[in-house]
Amino acid sequence: MASLEAGGKSLQAEFLENNAQYAAEFNDGQLPLPPARHALVLACMDARLHVEKVLGIKNGACHCVRNAGGRASDDALRSIVISQRLLGTKEVHIIHHTDCGMLTFTNEQLAVKIKEELGVDVGDRDFLPFPDLHQSVLDDIRTVRESPLVAPGTRVQGYIYEVETGKLRVVE
Ligand SMILES: [Zn+2]
Repeated sequence: MASLEAGGKSLQAEFLENNAQYAAEFNDGQLPLPPARHALVLACMDARLHVEKVLGIKNGACHCVRNAGGRASDDALRSIVISQRLLGTKEVHIIHHTDCGMLTFTNEQLAVKIKEELGVDVGDRDFLPFPDLHQSVLDDIRTVRESPLVAPGTRVQGYIYEVETGKLRVVE
């Protein structure tokens, strides 16, 4: 069932209305499949991190892969492999951010919560939380650089986005 806002309009109805406006002005139907800037951005899914706006990415320019934390997880690597091998990207830019939800829990705490609320035992599953923002970016840069599935010589760069200021800090 669709959730209703105070005004009674579902989010789906709002999305479809917005999309009708978008499609009415849409002019990018002829863009090629490979990203024009040959780059992939891996970023946290945080709703306050509007990746395309933050980086000035135009439609068709870059792959944007998002997950909780912007972590270089197995599935992020899966996307990087497809992006590089099939669609010609040569750079990876990793963005984590201040006030990230991933800084607020441990695997053990989340496992307890899942057990209590869903009745599921997740065992020692790693949800990839992190206690140190700077270190998490460095860890993910290294994970991508050291993956045998990532092309040797791939430029891998990391950043911290400040949700408080809109600014991006380079992590080295
Ligand atoms: Zn986050």
